[in-house]
Amino acid sequence: MRQTYDPYRTWVGEIILQQTRMDQGLPYYRAFLESFPDVSTLALAREDEVLRLWQGLGYYSRARNMHASAKYISEQLGGVMPADYQGLLELKGVGPYTAAAIASWCYKQPCAAVDGNVSRLITRLFGIGEAINSPAGVRQVQALANELLDPVDPGMHNQAMIEFGALQCVPVSPRCMDCPLAELCEANKQGRVDSIPVKIKNKKPVERWFYYYSIRSGGECILIRRGKADIWAGLYEFPMIETRGPQTDEEIVHQLLPLILQKHDSKDDSALPLSIGALSAPVRHQLSHQTINARFLQVEAEHLPDPLPENWQRVPLDQLDRYAMPRLIHRYLESENI
Ligand code: SF4
Repeated sequence: MRQTYDPYRTWVGEIILQQTRMDQGLPYYRAFLESFPDVSTLALAREDEVLRLWQGLGYYSRARNMHASAKYISEQLGGVMPADYQGLLELKGVGPYTAAAIASWCYKQPCAAVDGNVSRLITRLFGIGEAINSPAGVRQVQALANELLDPVDPGMHNQAMIEFGALQCVPVSPRCMDCPLAELCEANKQGRVDSIPVKIKNKKPVERWFYYYSIRSGGECILIRRGKADIWAGLYEFPMIETRGPQTDEEIVHQLLPLILQKHDSKDDSALPLSIGALSAPVRHQLSHQTINARFLQVEAEHLPDPLPENWQRVPLDQLDRYAMPRLIHRYLESENI
């Protein structure tokens, strides 16, 4: 992934590496570039297609931002990626690290790229006690990274720093015994390796309760598309109800009919014979700032509501892989062998 000087490919690779390790990200990188080999093909793609290729990586906003930026490059910049740090920073979803990585690697610009690996390495080397996720800590680390940068080959320097942090100066039990920087490293000399870097603890994740209704009929099921204002924007899932706390099995079943009728004009619920199937055990799904507690109720309908409630889509079960879904839904489908 880091073997190309093409700015588009470097951009795609860096965004993927922000959320996964190299070995896990490589198949995604290859599949993404096979479908969208350049900025213009990405710009012309449907959002659905982009999200589907991102499925499993999480942080779907990053894929949406890349898509939006590709459109911006195509429509406003004549299809040519910005060739400098400031121009790259204008792209949606491109922050100082990604802009510096692309600018230094593809254009040899003297920009120090500071990711988590570099930040950890620098704080240990200089014995910095400031939290690395505080504004002051970020400024201090960036200033030191700028000072250390090799202006002759900044791209190679950045990659070396990143790799050194990732392989030698790892988060837990760094390899200080055989480290070539051991005698220079303040954290090592002061016996503070285990307490540096300092981090401000994030707030406790918010708990949410999602109850999904996997409504099927004659080889089809119902999907809905999530709105823009919440997690998993634009992804597909089953009709669901979110509650403020855990529900009993009985409550989960009782919520089903109102869910259908509330969105379905017909008052004749006898027209929609349903048979209630298995209710899954609770599943905890961890996101960066939220914990989703989910359960899935399987429902067989003799026929599906007609007309379908707004935003509901009838989808053949054998075509579900065409729809981008949150990993939580994907895992449920896998468990059901669908
Ligand atoms: S001596 Fe240890 S803490 Fe210091 S840079 Fe090397 S591996 Fe990291």
